[in-house]
Amino acid sequence: MTKLRPGVIFGEEYKTLIQAAREGQYALPAVNVVGSNSINAVLEAAAANKSDVIVQLSNGGAQFYAGAAMPDSFQARVLGAVSAAQHVHLLAKHYGVCVVLHTDHANRKLVPWLEALISHGEDYFRANGRPLFTSHMLDLSEETLEDNLSESERLLKRMAPLQMSLEIELGCTGGEEDGVGSDDDIGSDNPKLYTQPEDVLEAYNRLDPLGHFSVAASFGNVHGVYKPGNVKLRPEILRESQKLVRETHGLGENPLPLVFHGGSGSEKAKIAESLGYGVFKMNIDTDTQFAFSEQAGAYVFETPNAFKHQIDPETGVPYKKVYDPRKLLREGEKGIVTRLTEAFEDLRSTGKSLAQ
Ligand SMILES: [Zn+2]
Repeated sequence: MTKLRPGVIFGEEYKTLIQAAREGQYALPAVNVVGSNSINAVLEAAAANKSDVIVQLSNGGAQFYAGAAMPDSFQARVLGAVSAAQHVHLLAKHYGVCVVLHTDHANRKLVPWLEALISHGEDYFRANGRPLFTSHMLDLSEETLEDNLSESERLLKRMAPLQMSLEIELGCTGGEEDGVGSDDDIGSDNPKLYTQPEDVLEAYNRLDPLGHFSVAASFGNVHGVYKPGNVKLRPEILRESQKLVRETHGLGENPLPLVFHGGSGSEKAKIAESLGYGVFKMNIDTDTQFAFSEQAGAYVFETPNAFKHQIDPETGVPYKKVYDPRKLLREGEKGIVTRLTEAFEDLRSTGKSLAQ
C-alpha cells in the first residue's frame, strides 16, 4: 500500500487517501474544531487509533479561534481559520498520522469568506509550495443547480492550481434551521432531502474536467441529534448516484468521493452501508461537542465548591489544583478522544493510517 508522509496532506496525496478509503471501504471522521484544545484532542485521538483524520472549521468555529470578541467579525472568520490551519501544519506531523485540513459549509453569504481564504491560500502556496487548506466546502444547495454548479466551477478554477479540492453539496442536508428533524415528522419521501442522481451526473460532467471535487449528498441525513424515528436514512440514494456516473462514463466502482454530513447520532448499520457506496468522509460535530461538555461537566459536578471558591470557606482547603483551567479543558479533550475512538471504529479506519 502507498505510504504518505505524516502531517497535512493535499493534491495527489489526498487522492491516494481517498482511493485507499474506497478500496478498503472505510471513511475518516471530519471533526469540527473551535480552538487548539479541540484540534489537539483530534490529533491525539487519531494518533492513538492509528487512523488518518480530517480537521475542519466552520466559519463560526474560525471566528471563535480568532477570539469571540475580535472587533471585525469578518476578519476574525478569515484569520481564525488561517491561524488554526497554521497550528495544524506545525503540529500534525509530530502526531504521526495524515491530516486533511478543510473548511465546512459556506453558503452564498459566505462566498467572500471562502474567497478571502483562497487568497490567503495563494500567498501560502507561493511561500511554501503547498496549499494552506486541503479543501474547502462551498454549499449552494439552497440555490438552483445552475447557480450552484457555475459558482463551483468558478471557485474550483481558482483552487485547482493550488492543488486544492472542492466539496460541494447537492440536495439539502436538513437541520434545526430548516425545521427538519423537529417534532414534526420530516417524512422519508421529502424530495428536498434526497440528492437526485441526475444532478450528481451533471456536477461530474462540469467539475471533473476542472479539478478534484467531492460531493456531500443528501440521503435523509440531518445536522444534529434528534429523537429516534424522525430521521430515515436511505444510503441506496448514494449507490444510485455512483451507478449513473459509473455507467455514463465507463468508470470503476464508486467513482465519486462522497461525504456524509450530519453523521452525529446516525444508526450504525446505515453508516456501515454508506461505506460501501464510496463515502470517504463523515462529518461529526454534535457528538464531539457533547463528549467534551459531558466529561468537563462531570468534572465540575465532582467538586462544585472549587468552582465557587478559591479556598473552601468551611474546611480551608485550597482548590488551586482543581480549578486550574488545564484540568477542566483536559477532561473535555479526553471526552473528545473517547468519542472519536468510537467514530474510527464505526468508520472502520482504526489502524489504517497511511502515514509511514
Ligand atoms: Zn454539514
